Amino acid sequence: MTTTATAPQLNPKAAEFLAKKVHKLLIGADWKDAASGKTFKTTNPATGEVLGVVAEGDKADVDAAVKAARAAYEGAWSKVSPSERGKLLNRLADLVEKNAEELAQLETLDNGKIIGEAMKGDLPLCADLLRYYAGWTTKISGETTPVSVPYYPGAKFLHYTVREPLGVVGAIIPWNFPLLMAVERLAPVLACGNALVLKPAEQTPLSALRLGELCLEAGIPAGVVNVVPGFGATAGAALAAHMDVDKISFTGSTDTGREVVKASAGNLKKVSLELGGKSPNIVFEDADLDAAARGMFMGIFYNQGQTCSAGSRVFVHESKFEAMVGALAERAKKIRQGPGLDPQSKMGPLVSEVQMNRVLGYVESGKKEGAKVLAGGERASGPLANGWFVQPTVFTEVKDSMRIAQEEIFGPVVAVMPFKDEAEVLARANGTPYGLVAGVWTKDIKKAFRMAQGLKAGVVWLNCYQFVDAAAPWGGTKQSGYGREKGPDAVHAYTQVKSVWVDLN
Ligand code: ADP
Repeated sequence: MTTTATAPQLNPKAAEFLAKKVHKLLIGADWKDAASGKTFKTTNPATGEVLGVVAEGDKADVDAAVKAARAAYEGAWSKVSPSERGKLLNRLADLVEKNAEELAQLETLDNGKIIGEAMKGDLPLCADLLRYYAGWTTKISGETTPVSVPYYPGAKFLHYTVREPLGVVGAIIPWNFPLLMAVERLAPVLACGNALVLKPAEQTPLSALRLGELCLEAGIPAGVVNVVPGFGATAGAALAAHMDVDKISFTGSTDTGREVVKASAGNLKKVSLELGGKSPNIVFEDADLDAAARGMFMGIFYNQGQTCSAGSRVFVHESKFEAMVGALAERAKKIRQGPGLDPQSKMGPLVSEVQMNRVLGYVESGKKEGAKVLAGGERASGPLANGWFVQPTVFTEVKDSMRIAQEEIFGPVVAVMPFKDEAEVLARANGTPYGLVAGVWTKDIKKAFRMAQGLKAGVVWLNCYQFVDAAAPWGGTKQSGYGREKGPDAVHAYTQVKSVWVDLN
């Protein structure tokens, strides 16, 4: 099915995967067509060419997947010991490492990201997440509690808690880090003993389907992992509303997050939400300016700016403003854009035409509201005209009230603004409905910690930006969502506590 401009470089296994006529749904042990028989196309955003045809899951397929997950959860999976679960996750990590090049190429072709970022960022993190949670399987314990029972003087009880799995977890994930998001859910969900129904984003279903194959190859019992690609309004909504799903873990836009919460009300399933951001990246006058310049650049342009943690509002102290914004714009102009598989490319296309138009719409709104374009500001042309490329764009003369300073753009577009002092920049940094991440650059240690205390964000980076790790909790405050992924917090997020009383009287 595949043709791409860069096909000759394809890993043979990636080529073999892409050659499938239809990429089917993983339900239980079987690869199935959608019950409706419908399919949809996934395209290479660098060229607009069709990359594959994918079975289009909807409510009927979600029902079947949830049934398979429930049967596995109550049956075979419940008999697998914690240590065996750990071994299975480690085996999956081995397979992810063994097939890293293939997975990275699929990711690059489907999402657009440059191959270096996929190979050096997404893939190692995937393996690490699996190993981190493999280690947790044997350490998910409860506590014994010294209860007093004041209304029963002298009574003796043993009280203990057990951390139990939730049951069937639905994961609805976005297209910006398709494999990483899938693994970030799968690893703790399975480590805690749950079964999973994964709904990848319709723009990027391929790597999740390949991950499904690897799960079976690793020996994870059938039904523990089900993968149902499909559209948000059908497959996603059906999963969010499903009466036999115990939890939804959602990453995506804030508006869709609200829909997921509403849909969860039927059976009061648990929900965790990792939503949008409009994150401040703050450079004080006393910062290591070279490091800060790299942080500003990476903060906004990594993954074409399609990260929920994009440092899309950069605040630079007025004394350094002109120099820093000028340097950022010059660097942005030099970024070599191209197809992600080309090792010369430093920035790929946006994921889809819809996304490109959304981003270009924001660029236009910035221009109309009076902001000044220092770099970029257009769709890329020439040899890139067939793909969904937007030039890396730097805006100055931005007011806090402008849409480009308030709304999540999810593209390579940054608003750079000067500030005078700490109190002012803290208030402005906190002045959006979002609160996902924030970056601060200063050599003054007290100022750094004061800022870390004052910033309303789930993650604060001091003198660094865009670092994530399997062990470090991730999630937001305010309208960036609730709940945390990664780290020990995800173990809590995918288990519930049972309180057991034993009468010793
Ligand atoms: P975007 O608009 O950038 O595609 P979304 O937040 O809409 O971001 O998408 C993130 C994920 O949520 C995708 O897997 C998408 O299919 C899914 N989704 C979209 N709408 C809904 C919905 N109403 N209910 C559940 N999932 C949805």
